[in-house]
Amino acid sequence: MSEIPRTDTIVAIASAAGRGGVGVVRISGVDAARIGGRIAGLLPPARHAALRDFRDASGTTIDSGLVLHFPAPNSFTGEHVVELQGHGSPVALDLLVRAACALGARPARAGEFSERAFLNGRLDLAQAEAIADLIEASTVEAARAAQRSLEGELSKRVHALAEQLIELRMYVEGALDFSDEDVDWLADQALVKKLQTVQQDLAQLLMQAEQGRRLRDGFTVALTGRPNVGKSTLLNRLAGAEVAIVTDIAGTTRDVLRENLNLRGLPVTLVDTAGLRESGDAIEREGMRRARVALAQAELALFVVDARERLTAEDRRLIAELPSGLPVLIVHNKIDLAPAAAPAAAGELCLSAANGDGIDALITELHRRAGLQSGETSLFSARTRHVDALQTANVRLAAAAERLLRSGALPELAAEELKDALVALGEITGEFSSEDLLGRIFANFCIGK
Ligand code: GDP
Ligand code: ZN
Repeated sequence: MSEIPRTDTIVAIASAAGRGGVGVVRISGVDAARIGGRIAGLLPPARHAALRDFRDASGTTIDSGLVLHFPAPNSFTGEHVVELQGHGSPVALDLLVRAACALGARPARAGEFSERAFLNGRLDLAQAEAIADLIEASTVEAARAAQRSLEGELSKRVHALAEQLIELRMYVEGALDFSDEDVDWLADQALVKKLQTVQQDLAQLLMQAEQGRRLRDGFTVALTGRPNVGKSTLLNRLAGAEVAIVTDIAGTTRDVLRENLNLRGLPVTLVDTAGLRESGDAIEREGMRRARVALAQAELALFVVDARERLTAEDRRLIAELPSGLPVLIVHNKIDLAPAAAPAAAGELCLSAANGDGIDALITELHRRAGLQSGETSLFSARTRHVDALQTANVRLAAAAERLLRSGALPELAAEELKDALVALGEITGEFSSEDLLGRIFANFCIGK
């Protein structure tokens, strides 16, 4: 099996911050068994738990609990690991960490256990990221998707695609090596077929990754429109449907209200902006400036109008002033007050934030706009980084196809493009990764993971 790396020994509290029924301290590295043994006395056999007193270097008992020993390489990090499961007292856990440090360990950096697991080949990069995504998942669906990525679902698909690309590249290079004269690539049905298949598979993976990213990152929707059309009521209506899961993000300004909602499994950040209108008031102008900043960051604008007035001239002007490129969904609110109103234009929705009519259709439309079919669950979680890499691979593959299938083919360049596509895929699983990239990824993990 893999060689035990010569690293130092790290220690951290692995359980959640604060008081709890149980608290876990994890020690990993070459000295884990020695340090764990000094704290807990004799270590139990591999992967067995034993009840022990935990003592500091001077022999004072800090806590008591279960000790587990995972000898390398069969541990989370691939190194020797000792876990101390004590009572969930933050003070006692802290003393355990200090005791381990006094015996030669050092406090782990954020994500360092996962980073070691990656470096020791226990997980690939996409799987390591999925651990953090599972911990941070905001909906059940997002947690399930992250779990599937952790099991290697995304990695498996990326590997399968990489295999196809390797085969294609070998085919092109082979044909190059064995032909003296020009090859008519277009006439090569096997090649055309292979190219089509891999392009289709890549496009499908890209779509699935975008859905997975959506479940992880959610969908940022800005509520906007004239004052009093019912934006805040709509926010409360959408939030009310999922009251238990509504959270306020701390630190947001009062004037732009942000709510994190779970709308049938889709995490939506709904931003209620101050009503847009001309104003001389300095404070209101500032509120509007912030509203525009929020709009610039949104992925969809829910533009609310009063169903009784339909789209007024001012509404049209406000819509024209929205950031260019921001998709707009026009919502006619207060239909309970306008039962006789003509139906909204195609692509627009009618609802009543007050009584809830039309809200289901709105949520379905939000799923559709987010690229998720309602009720469809994502196959795995993904990050923007993964989607970007797949897009790069897609562009490279298209360029390769273009260079092969055009008259006056440039197969050497096509082979290069295929190689670049493979490098992009390798970045997802970490086969190609810079220290810089790894540093950035793992620094966003929590300490103890
Ligand atoms: P905002 O300024 O756009 O945020 O509008 P509010 O949410 O504060 O609503 C303005 C007024 O319209 C309030 O008195 C709401 O109770 C009312 N309102 C909002 N939505 C509806 C609706 O669907 N039907 C009815 N009848 N009244 C509504
Ligand atoms: Zn409001």
